[in-house]
Amino acid sequence: MSDLLLELTAPNGLKYSQPIGLFINNEFVKSSTGEKFATINPATETDITHVYAASADDVDVAVKAARKALKSEPYKSLGGPGRARLLHKIADLIEQNAHTLASIECWDNGKPYLHALYADVPMVVNTFRYFAGWADKIQGDMIETKPTKLIYTIREPVGVCGQIIPWNYPILMAAWKIAPMLACGNTTVLKPAEQTPLSALYFATLIKEAGVPPGVINILNGFGRVAGAAIASHLDIDKVAFTGSTQTGREIMKMASSNLKNISLETGGKSPSLIFDDADIASAVKWTHQGIMFNAGQTCTANSRILVQEGVYEKFVEQFKETVKNVSKIGDPFENTTYHGPQITQAQFDRVMGYIESGKSEGATLAMGGVPHKNINGKGFYIAPTIFTDVKDHHRIYREEIFGPFCVISSFVTEEEAITRANDSTYGLGASVFTENLKRAHRVARAIESGTVWINSSIDSDFRVPFGGVKLSGIGRELGEAGLASYTSMKSVHVNLGD
Ligand code: ADP
Repeated sequence: MSDLLLELTAPNGLKYSQPIGLFINNEFVKSSTGEKFATINPATETDITHVYAASADDVDVAVKAARKALKSEPYKSLGGPGRARLLHKIADLIEQNAHTLASIECWDNGKPYLHALYADVPMVVNTFRYFAGWADKIQGDMIETKPTKLIYTIREPVGVCGQIIPWNYPILMAAWKIAPMLACGNTTVLKPAEQTPLSALYFATLIKEAGVPPGVINILNGFGRVAGAAIASHLDIDKVAFTGSTQTGREIMKMASSNLKNISLETGGKSPSLIFDDADIASAVKWTHQGIMFNAGQTCTANSRILVQEGVYEKFVEQFKETVKNVSKIGDPFENTTYHGPQITQAQFDRVMGYIESGKSEGATLAMGGVPHKNINGKGFYIAPTIFTDVKDHHRIYREEIFGPFCVISSFVTEEEAITRANDSTYGLGASVFTENLKRAHRVARAIESGTVWINSSIDSDFRVPFGGVKLSGIGRELGEAGLASYTSMKSVHVNLGD
């Protein structure tokens, strides 16, 4: 093996070749500084391997490659059908490599292997196939004004994109960014999160195998403040797409202002779940449990604020606790029985534990969990599923995004109060409403300030459906037909047919 491709054996015995370089122009290369960083297994706190970290100079080289590819053959004349073929080919290769990708994801991120295999990877495949379908349907309009004028629009690629993604769904977030970008004929420099660099590099080998022309997709690992900042501020990048924290989103927006980049941001959330007296409680419990505890609570739309109408409050809390006990099995992510893996890093572990202390000191009731959980080897960033009740609206645990297996449950009296309190947040990413009353369901869905409202379910996003936030939860939409708008630029052509 070369020093850019390592033979690794995952904890489940899988042997595979892991690239560790920067992927530029379809080749893996070392970084200009030679700097590497470690990526660790959050379930055991041990190093998996080291990968190269991009410098600002490396980002510049990748941007030049992306710029060149944008206007050169063979990409230039591939056209929609050609790009569709590439997207389908990528989807085929992901399906063929599902076991490897799920194993890497489980190892590097700590999410249960079966969740990676049956949730993340199929969603990645679906995303590529869905946008493959759009690649030859990127069309403009003809606009009628007067007989002497022909006016039409052309939807052109935005150009060179910079895409910065988080660690909670590494390969899925890469797919959400890359698939529409490629469908619309752009090129990209994508930076995975430094906590989870491995699956995107493995994915890079599939990009090459699929026949994507060199320079179209460049994948550079590195630190946010170096490589991420170099992307966000680069003067020859036309668009930046980011998923991550609101604070980083703000910084990226400032940096992107240097050349007024087209920008799309998907940032934080504190998504409410409203459970009305007339809800099917067993179903509400099932969905809200999944909504907050899936992926160890590390989902942007996690329903971390659960508001329950007073008539069913006690019943809901009891059944919710019972479900957490029965379903959220903590353990080795490679075990088939595990539902609940570790937090991603020591820093996230500390952050969540800090909020547990905050909840206690502010006077909320710790109804369940609130303690670290050590895996069999006494290691791992595990936190037991945590529930606080008697939470007041001014408590930090009620207002701030925690990003852990941690929810607050509070009671409300009227629908009006529920809506007011649901909207009393700086965020607006997702919300769910549980009721069997049809009129109430739609009335509340309209009244809630958020990018998505689920009626009688939670966090079950779909590649065909626009996804994004209002308020501090972001700008723009990904997925669905609306997701194309982020990756195309509209040109209007006026043709004078008169004198
Ligand atoms: P989290 O706090 O959940 O780790 P971040 O918003 O810090 O989320 O990280 C999401 C992505 O943004 C990662 O790829 C990270 O490297 C990148 N990032 C972090 N800080 C910056 C920054 N100042 N400029 C550009 N990218 C950044």
